[in-house]
Amino acid sequence: MTTPYLARNVESDAVRPAFANWLSSTNDLTSRFVAAERVPGLINIAGGLPAPETFPVEELAALSQAVVREFPRDSLGYGPTDGLVELRDAIASRFSTQSLRLDRSNVLITAGGTQALDLIGKVLLEAGGVVAGEFPMYAGALDAWRPRQPRYHCLRAEAGDLDLSSAKAQFVYAVPNFSNPTGKLVGLAARRALVDAAHRTGVWIVEDDPYGSLYYDETPLPRLIELSADLAPGEAYRGPVVYLGTFSKELVPGLRVAWAIGSPDIIQALTTAKQSAALCSNGMAQRIALAAMRGGLTERMRPKLLGLYRERRDALAAAMDEHLSDWFEWDVPVGGMFIWATARDRSLDTDAVVSAGLKTGVLVAPGRVFDPQGEDRSGLRLNFTLNPPDRLDEAVRRLGAAMRLLYEQVA
Ligand code: PMP
Repeated sequence: MTTPYLARNVESDAVRPAFANWLSSTNDLTSRFVAAERVPGLINIAGGLPAPETFPVEELAALSQAVVREFPRDSLGYGPTDGLVELRDAIASRFSTQSLRLDRSNVLITAGGTQALDLIGKVLLEAGGVVAGEFPMYAGALDAWRPRQPRYHCLRAEAGDLDLSSAKAQFVYAVPNFSNPTGKLVGLAARRALVDAAHRTGVWIVEDDPYGSLYYDETPLPRLIELSADLAPGEAYRGPVVYLGTFSKELVPGLRVAWAIGSPDIIQALTTAKQSAALCSNGMAQRIALAAMRGGLTERMRPKLLGLYRERRDALAAAMDEHLSDWFEWDVPVGGMFIWATARDRSLDTDAVVSAGLKTGVLVAPGRVFDPQGEDRSGLRLNFTLNPPDRLDEAVRRLGAAMRLLYEQVA
């Protein structure tokens, strides 16, 4: 007989303690990536990884030593839950503008933007609540909120479809700079309309901006939080936008240092949630990140990083023109890390493309995992930052071979 705390394990028919329900609907992308790592010679253009050759190894090695010696308590002891005060001040001053007035009460440090997304789910989402945003949507955000089992409402900001009140959304999730997976840049008019709608209806906007420093061809557009501050200039920021930034793409992801900027009340709520999740952030990593900021390391890295990624984006786009245009269409993004290709045959399930790619030696990310409703399976995400141009060309040639395999099997 089972007690309420036990469930029957179907495979072995033994009585086993049960897991929470939401675990039965996780995405299998990460485990597929891990399995693919073991395939010899496979080229991975599926992930969203920075190029390791951009990592400032010597500078960070020197800073690591220096911060432990100079700040042993901050580096090695427990620290404040909301983050190192000097780092919060530095982030507040970096993002302040004439109308966006920030101080440390507007800033929370998190372990990557990923932790911030998790905390957002904890403080803004009721079980079964509604998240509004553009589809396809970042798979990591869907994963972060899955324990709340939310429903999703599709917004089309560019098309003026921004009816926040009838959506009854608890917040809007937006990645205006080079969305993951689509690489799309949201234009200025749509940004303004989205911010206006949030101010009118009192709905939070979560502005997730890991790619904001990766503009290759154009000057950066204003952030949503800046446009929001323009609506009430001169006051300490109290608006509905929560801005998430990270050092992952402009410095290194391994530090796991990121930040949330918002009104003091939401920063406090997020801090309360963080207390039970992490107690405090990694002090050594925060000290290193602060020293890197103060020493101008990210600024010094930027030109090389942008040059490298621009060249790789162009190489991927050229290879796609040559090998994929019979089957897919895409826009070349002006920033970020991805090209999003949609199948001309909208009934194509790109899971089959991923399986065929594993046979020809390339790993790509299937559209299904970015669609919260699981309806559109015809997209494919291709990353251009990790591999050099010759590997990108070979990867896309293999993808073309995979497509031929697939359609020969169908015919
Ligand atoms: N948001 C988006 C849209 C992302 O693509 C990523 C990284 N893949 C993150 C947040 C989180 O990055 P991190 O946790 O490394 O800061």
